[in-house]
Amino acid sequence: MSRYELSRTELAPLLTGAPSYRVDQLWDGLYRQLVEPEQVTALPRDLRARLGSEPLLAPALHVEAVRHADDGETVKWAVGLADGSRVETVLMHHPRHSTACVSSQAGCAMACSFCATGQAGYTRQLTVGEIVEQVVLAARAARDAGRRLDHVVFMGMGEPLANYERVLASVRRIVGDIGIGARRVTISTVGVVPGIRRLAAEPLQVNLAVSLHAANDRLRNDLVPLGRRYPIAALMDACADYVAATHRRVSFEWALIRSVNDRDADADELARLARALGAHVNLIPLNPTPGAVDLGLVGTDAGGVRAFRARLERHGVNVTVRRTRGRAIDAACGQLAARATSTAPS
Ligand code: SAH
Repeated sequence: MSRYELSRTELAPLLTGAPSYRVDQLWDGLYRQLVEPEQVTALPRDLRARLGSEPLLAPALHVEAVRHADDGETVKWAVGLADGSRVETVLMHHPRHSTACVSSQAGCAMACSFCATGQAGYTRQLTVGEIVEQVVLAARAARDAGRRLDHVVFMGMGEPLANYERVLASVRRIVGDIGIGARRVTISTVGVVPGIRRLAAEPLQVNLAVSLHAANDRLRNDLVPLGRRYPIAALMDACADYVAATHRRVSFEWALIRSVNDRDADADELARLARALGAHVNLIPLNPTPGAVDLGLVGTDAGGVRAFRARLERHGVNVTVRRTRGRAIDAACGQLAARATSTAPS
């Protein structure tokens, strides 16, 4: 149990003897003021002291290391969990907004060949409290830097749609309690078709990103093993139903790999899929990871990225080229592996 796991109803018994509005004050302290239970100044001192030592309100995360890159605009935390597992959380500041990239699982079972998390294997599902507390960690740090966290992306470690219930419960807290707009929350999936279909039926306006990376099954199955279970046609069907049900736009993530998925023919094939769905395409040159290096996979160079983008645009596709943030600290897409770092206590 941890402070961001408990519902309001579950918090009430911890405040026995106190009037019921104290629950709201504690809730407000945790989710709006983002402070420690003993720092909720609306509560009487003795109650705060009691809450401060309440085991059920203990934090779920212990920061083991913090690293900065991009002139402080990117921050990565290695956080330890109660059972000794470790995940990573990233905060990225942009000129007008700040984004937290949160993990949904310790490790990942999807085994994408080029992704460091996938190569390290799966440990376990994260709890609601562990997911929400990552957002709080990032929101506090943003505030301390004079910024405001206003976007959350489930693009850290793990496959969010393989931890569906807990991810959705944490989205409800992030939106309903922390107050980040649902339209500023993005769930990214490797292509878990049943999860996309479930998400389409939720009364939530979150964004869906699909890590496509290849527009034909032969290549995709090489890069993304889950493709064998959910071929591109089934994935595109689910996305089309998602768009029809939610009226939200889907985006495709495409890590550009030199001579693998960055040729003209790849752009043409991708454009067909994107146009059929009105999908937005996010391009990013592949970041180096041990698995990618072993397979001889390298990121497309800047000129190649520009040409690929231009070709998609000529096909009428909306494209964004993503900056590779946090590469220097292994915080960029696909690099999160939560390895022990020299600054971590033993
Ligand atoms: N499992 C979910 C959430 C992870 S998001 C998903 O697959 O969508 C992390 C994103 O980084 C995914 O789009 C993933 O495919 C991408 N990625 C993984 N390794 C990468 C690498 N080496 N370079 C660039 N992007 C990578």
